Amino acid sequence: MTTYRFQAEIKQLLDILVHSLYSDREIFLRELISNASDALNRVQFEMLTNPNVTTPDAPLQIRITVDEEAGTLTISDTGIGMTAEDMQNNLGVIARSGAKAFIEAMKDAKGNVTAQDVIGQFGVGFYSAFMVADKVRVVSKSHLPDAPAMAWESTGGDEYVIEPAERAERGTDVILHLKEEDKEFLKPYRIKEIIRRHSDYIAFPIYVGDDETPTNKQQAIWRRSSSEIEDKEYNDFYKMMTMDFQEPLHRIHMRADTPLQFYALLYFPASSEPNMFSLRKEPGLKLYARKVLIQEYCKDILPEYLQFIQGVVDTEDLPLNVSRETVQANRVMANLSNAITRKVLNELGRMARKNKDKYLKIFKEFSRFIKQGVVVVPQDKDDIIPLLFFNSTHTDSLDDFWTLQDYVDRMVENQQDIYYILADDPHSARRSPHLDAFRQRGIEVLYFTDPIDAAMLMGLTEFQGHALRSVDEADIDLSNIGQSTEQETEQPEPVQEETFETVITRFKAVLGARVKDVRAGKSLTGSPARLVSDETGAARNMFRINRLLDKDYQLPIKTLEINPRHPLIHNLVNQIQAGHNALVDAVIEQVFETALLQDGIHPDPAAMAQRLTLLMQAATGSSVDELDFQQAISIPEPESTPDFSADDGDGGIEDAEFADVESK
Ligand code: ADP
Repeated sequence: MTTYRFQAEIKQLLDILVHSLYSDREIFLRELISNASDALNRVQFEMLTNPNVTTPDAPLQIRITVDEEAGTLTISDTGIGMTAEDMQNNLGVIARSGAKAFIEAMKDAKGNVTAQDVIGQFGVGFYSAFMVADKVRVVSKSHLPDAPAMAWESTGGDEYVIEPAERAERGTDVILHLKEEDKEFLKPYRIKEIIRRHSDYIAFPIYVGDDETPTNKQQAIWRRSSSEIEDKEYNDFYKMMTMDFQEPLHRIHMRADTPLQFYALLYFPASSEPNMFSLRKEPGLKLYARKVLIQEYCKDILPEYLQFIQGVVDTEDLPLNVSRETVQANRVMANLSNAITRKVLNELGRMARKNKDKYLKIFKEFSRFIKQGVVVVPQDKDDIIPLLFFNSTHTDSLDDFWTLQDYVDRMVENQQDIYYILADDPHSARRSPHLDAFRQRGIEVLYFTDPIDAAMLMGLTEFQGHALRSVDEADIDLSNIGQSTEQETEQPEPVQEETFETVITRFKAVLGARVKDVRAGKSLTGSPARLVSDETGAARNMFRINRLLDKDYQLPIKTLEINPRHPLIHNLVNQIQAGHNALVDAVIEQVFETALLQDGIHPDPAAMAQRLTLLMQAATGSSVDELDFQQAISIPEPESTPDFSADDGDGGIEDAEFADVESK
């Protein structure tokens, strides 16, 4: 007999389990049954490939027995078993790093989260036995040939022992010496009740006492007919499988007979962020071949852009001797994947058309996955595009979402292209100066405000023959499209052409290499300026994609368009003529940076604060020192962006003359 000390975390864990989880004690049984079921799954899989498994004829089952006199409850399985070394590794140390998080969570939760919600996800399942037992003995014989039976025993203190034991067959007995106050678990009816409540789906039969019929239904929920399954049962199964506390948003339960025979039960989780207790550590579906669990996380069934879906696939067509490594290469897999992916896409498409509200809940949560599909799996594009929804200028409400088809159906006279605006959020999109001209002519613009949208555009360049074009493309000519509204005539007169040239010159001097060009903008109405770009294709959005990927990026150098009719530009002309150079330069700088800000590409908005304060000071009537203005203009150069200081060496700030600025 050898005595070992528990790892410190286990000691802590035991303290918590023994003292603070009183109300949910009965779930210890679910945990131990789940371990037994795992052990059976593993040996079942092992037997497919390894002819030397001990006692190959033992029926795969779980039996629960009580000994009233001794006060013990025993959970026995014919699973994979454990060697002495396994016992040390599995029942003495917490392998999973989540254990600490579990301990913290239980301390913090102070009863808000029930034990039932959280035990089992960090590999603490076995230790829940100590909620009801003051001594636990595990007798086990490994499936490995010639492995001797061993026993592990502990009273939940600091230590456990391992010693040789007797057990003829492969498998494990977990013997609980129940505490005085937990003797209720010696009653078979109580045990059956708990099994039906928590372990009904376990695929192996669970017998209580000498019963010859199993207590659990056993038949996997996905193999049952959907007409006999209530929503609650579906949702309970989902929660049990994932440890998600929230109900799923939607489920797909399918069964196919030809050409492939399979069952699938798929769920759309309520949130794209799994909670910290989630049982699902990786994406992927559980894959069973003829009820045998082949892969816990099979990533070869759904394409990556649908891997937020949780669930189970069970097929009759995979050969049972398929190993985990060869699953992927199997021909059946490609067909299975295709059938299930089509079904999911059809279902989503149907929902998007028939039940938009419900669909949008899914889309809002998982759009960043779905949109990837457009780029990564071009052959699925036709199915994915109808699943994409966007806000647009069509209505003011950001709760309204539209498809590209909705957009095309509403196109105005002579409109050929689909216009979109890329922005950081719908609010800044809505306020963008780029929209002036479109609004004026009643042309709808889609808001692409998901960070992934820039990347999505790499795969989405046209829809039904209509090119997608960004509103900040330099050469968009709207003059023949739609109908101009009166607003145009209400515009102030433009600044005289010759005078306007001096304004342009001044802008160029101040902004230097930070802009490609400065010129009059024909399409601006309410805004003094905007930045446009001549680049086309994916290149124009590359910096957004790099920003999304957390890579270094260079801000694009764009052309600044100025609105010759805007009152601010009129004022600037006056100020230039009055020789108020420092003020003029500060305003020019601010016009430029405001345009950056409106496009969501200002690298350091806080740097504007000082200049804005001075401008407000000037506007409200006090004089501002030239030097102050100069300092406020030269903002430091940010990392990996183009030169941002105003010191471009060709005039501008340096030769600005002193100006006392009065409010006008
Ligand atoms: P988890 O089951 O979440 O991994 P547990 O604390 O419940 O964590 O169990 C720890 C490990 O002990 C298991 O991963 C498994 O390797 C082993 N184990 C527990 N019960 C059994 C059993 N009945 N048969 C074989 N191995 C078991």
